[in-house]
Formats: sequence, C-alpha cells, structure tokens
Amino acid sequence: MPDPHGFQRHERHLPKRRPVPVRLRDWHEVYPSADDAFIREQATRCMDCGIPFCHDGCPLGNRIPDWNDLVRTGDWDFAVESLHATNNFPEFTGRLCPAPCEAACVLAITDTGPGTGGRTNAVTIKQVEVEIANRAHERGLVVPRVAPERSGRSVGVVGSGPAGLAAAQQLARAGHAVTVYERDEAPGGLLRFGIPDFKLEKEHIDRRLAQLRAEGVAFVTGCHVGVDLPLEELRSRHDAVLLACGALQGRDMPETPGRHLAGVHLAMEHLVGSNRAVAGTVPWAPIDAAGKHVVIIGGGDTAADCLGVAHRQGAASVTQLDLYPQPPAGRDPARDPWPTWPWILREYPAHEEGGERVFAVAVQEFVGDDAGHLRAIRLAEVSVVREGGRRVVTPVPGSERELPVELVLLAIGFAGTEEGPLLAQLGLERTARGGLDCAEDWQTAVPGVFVAGDMHRGASLIVWAIAEGRAAAAAIHTYLGGAGELPAPVRPVSAPLAVR
Ligand SMILES: Cc1cc2nc3c(=O)[nH]c(=O)nc-3n(C[C@H](O)[C@H](O)[C@H](O)COP(=O)(O)OP(=O)(O)OC[C@H]3O[C@@H](n4cnc5c(N)ncnc54)[C@H](O)[C@@H]3O)c2cc1C
Ligand code: SF4
Repeated sequence: MPDPHGFQRHERHLPKRRPVPVRLRDWHEVYPSADDAFIREQATRCMDCGIPFCHDGCPLGNRIPDWNDLVRTGDWDFAVESLHATNNFPEFTGRLCPAPCEAACVLAITDTGPGTGGRTNAVTIKQVEVEIANRAHERGLVVPRVAPERSGRSVGVVGSGPAGLAAAQQLARAGHAVTVYERDEAPGGLLRFGIPDFKLEKEHIDRRLAQLRAEGVAFVTGCHVGVDLPLEELRSRHDAVLLACGALQGRDMPETPGRHLAGVHLAMEHLVGSNRAVAGTVPWAPIDAAGKHVVIIGGGDTAADCLGVAHRQGAASVTQLDLYPQPPAGRDPARDPWPTWPWILREYPAHEEGGERVFAVAVQEFVGDDAGHLRAIRLAEVSVVREGGRRVVTPVPGSERELPVELVLLAIGFAGTEEGPLLAQLGLERTARGGLDCAEDWQTAVPGVFVAGDMHRGASLIVWAIAEGRAAAAAIHTYLGGAGELPAPVRPVSAPLAVR
C-alpha cells in the first residue's frame, strides 16, 4: 500500500546537475545517475491516486503509480518490467521527455500563478523513470525477447527514429521479419543526429539497437527510400510498409533580406554537424560557434540544444531571440487549467550555462559585410496577434536596433515531412500540419503503406513517436493476420490534454 503522506514528508527534489564549468568542457550528460535512497524517497511521494491523472498526460499510458510504488519498496526488477510493458525505450523518454505526466500529476494541482516561481510540486516521474531504465541496463535486464514463432510475413520500416524503432521492435517480437531502411549512416533519427550528447549519450541508442538486432530486426543504412530504393520496389519486397520519416523540413526565413549571407544557417545544420563531430564520424563540426557572437532565433527544444552546443564550442556570446512575449513563471489557470500542459517560461539546463534571452523581437534584416559575411542583425520589438487563424507580427515603430553577430541559427520549427521523391512516388499531399493523413488503422491512401510518428503528426515529441510506432505496429500486425492483438496506446486522432 503506497504511502498517502509521502508527499507531506518529502519535498520534490531532482538530483544535482553537474557543475556548469565542468560540463561545458565535455559532451557528457548533465545529470549524473542518482543513488537508490534518493530515488526511493522521491517515488514515495506518489499517492497512487484513485484516478491517476498522470496517466492522462502520458500518450504511452505508462503505469506510473505502479512503478513508483515498486521503486518505493526497492523492487527494481519488477519496476523494469512494469515500465517496459508500455514503453520500448524508457531511457529515451526518461532523459528527454518534457513530461506532460508531471504537469498532469495530482500534486501539481497547486502549481498556479507567478507565486510558484515556476516550481512544481509534481512527483519526479521522469527522474524515477530514467533511474529504473539505468538499473535495467546495470542489472542485465535489457535482453532480447526473440519471438517464439515466425509469422512468415515481412515489414519494411522507413526511418529509424523512435517511431520506426518502436514499431520495428513490436513487429519483430510478434514474429514478423522486419527491415528498417535509414538514409543516414547510422540508425536513431533525431535521437542520434538532432539531440546533443549532453541530453542523450549515444551509447543508449546503441544498446537498444543491439537488442533489436538480436531480436531479428535488420538495418539497411545509407538507403534513401525514393532515391536509392524506389517505393514500388520496397513494396514488392514486403507485405507491409511503415513510413516513419519524421518531419524534418526546417522552417526558414527566405523573405528576410540577407538570408543568403554566409553565417546564417538552419539549426539542424549546426546540430547534425556537431553530433557527427562528437561521434567522430567527421573531424570537426562544419558550423563552429568558437569565438563567435551567436544569435539563435527560436525558443523551443532545438534552440536550447543549439545554445548548449554553442557554449561547448566556445562561443563568445549567445543571444536567443523569441517572437513571443516572455511566458509567465507559473501556470495561468484561466488559460491552461490543470491537468493540461501549461504555457510557462521553460528553463532548460542549457539556460543555466549562459546566454541572454530576448523576447517579443523579430529580425528585420541580416546585415552583411562587403565579402558577403554576416556581421549584424537588425532587430525590432514586435507585437504578435492572431487574426482569422493567421499570425500577424507588427514591429513597434522606433524600436529598431542593430546587434553585431557572426553566426545566426534558425530554430523556428519544422514545416513537416520533407517534400521529395518519396512523397511524389506515394502520390500523396501533406496535411496542414505537414504530415501524412491516415485512416483509423494508420494506413495511408496507398494500400499496405502505413505512417507513424512526426511524419504523421507533424513535429512533436519522442513519447508521441514511440506511442504512434507501437499503435501502428498493432495495426500492421492485424493487417498481416497476426494472432491476438498488440498494444495500441493511441489512435491517429489522439491529441494532448487540452481545453480548447
Ligand atoms: C534538435 C531537436 C531536439 C529535440 N529534443 C526533444 C526532446 O528533448 N524531447 C522530446 O520529446 N522531443 C524532442 N524533439 C522532437 C523529437 O526528436 C521528435 O519528435 C522525434 O524524434 C520524432 O520521431 P520520428 O521517429 O517520428 O522521426 P525522426 O526522429 O525525425 O526520424 C526520422 C528518420 O527517418 C529518416 N528518413 C527520412 N526520410 C527517409 C527516406 N526517404 N528514406 C530513409 N530514411 C528516411 C531520417 O533520416 C530519420 O532518421 C527534438 C527535435 C529536435 C529537432
Ligand atoms: S497523479 Fe501524481 S501522485 Fe497521483 S498516481 Fe500519478 S504520479 Fe502518483
């Protein structure tokens, strides 16, 4: 029986992050692993609510109160089993998820208003999750689960991000022959090439890939489907195809004067190059912030990742610009009542490493020198309103100023899945969110071709990618006439908790 007073006896605490001056000298993760006593105390704060709202926040339907209680009593092995029942890769979500479950935790019901200073009272669900996942590896509990029988059916998965990998694992464990096709030189998708090591060291991906391979999943890397392998040929090789190609078309600022100047780049060019350099597959990062004044345009995960990379590369200064006004420190219940995901100022660990954040501004021009190199940006303060569903940005007269800068990184989001030969061969159009539509069974308008993850939903989160990968795998298993049912945590129309 969980301790109903645990949260009254113990305050919420996270483990201490590694000191900034130390971590800026390497690429290792920011959080060291915590000891058993610390995590068990935090897990004791969970009340095992009659109606666990944390479940509603998590698209995977993670059995949060169950594994919190198993950790409280020190039963790590069963906690691992409980975690793996709903999540193929808890070491990814435990490190990277923004944790909508914590925003929905009943203990977060009091996190309202500026008085909270942005602090939450929620159970440290994500931290408990990652510590269970760490112990799963330490105790040798991440072992291959090879299907007892082969189905004789085969599936081609295109894309090896979390959606493709989760689907591949589910299908292989159900006895199907699975081949994952990936155009990059190594599997992992954004986990490997977008997200820096200080958030996710790549050994975590490699360990899971070893497990998938041992379960029978084959990987073909350096294969751009639609270019190196036409879609029709892929379809003829397999009984079903799952597209999990992500939403990698970066938003750009083509209309802003000076966009062509040397020194203005999409954020992903910076991150992918840096990740390859850290992995040792290229000798140095092609876009290096060392000694430069850097401006990052955008306010989300990608921008924070560029910030951390720029500091580790030795930037002279980093300024992060956001079009929108500074969000409040605490939840505004009129706008985002509990248990929905609140619009608040998000402080990533990268923000405590330095840099300045400037809100409600927009770049009017990238200013170059005679040699065509970026030397400054011209900025204006702006107001942003929605008119008829459109965003209207109005500069404040007289607020323009110039900021000297040698490197600009555009981290302003993703327009959706990439236009290109694959979409042309499918003959399908993207939705307004930039994704591909599908029926209730995750099948696109092309028979036997299914879709999941960011390629379906538009740029989203790892937890949604894993959930969609699992659900699409369940639908493919049924399509192939597989026995029984696989778990399907979400439907194509599922959406995060919201009031609007
Ligand atoms: C910089 C950055 C940081 C992020 N940080 C976080 C975070 O901290 N937490 C979080 O929850 N989410 C984060 N996200 C979002 C998260 O990474 C994505 O939602 C998630 O990776 C989507 O998974 P996916 O499997 O759908 O696609 P992806 O991970 O994008 O994988 C798609 C794969 O398909 C491959 N591919 C594409 N087309 C083809 C083709 N034609 N042939 C063969 N292969 C192809 C691509 O090379 C890629 O490997 C971040 C995103 C970015 C860009
Ligand atoms: S809502 Fe919070 S306290 Fe309640 S079961 Fe979930 S994690 Fe535990």
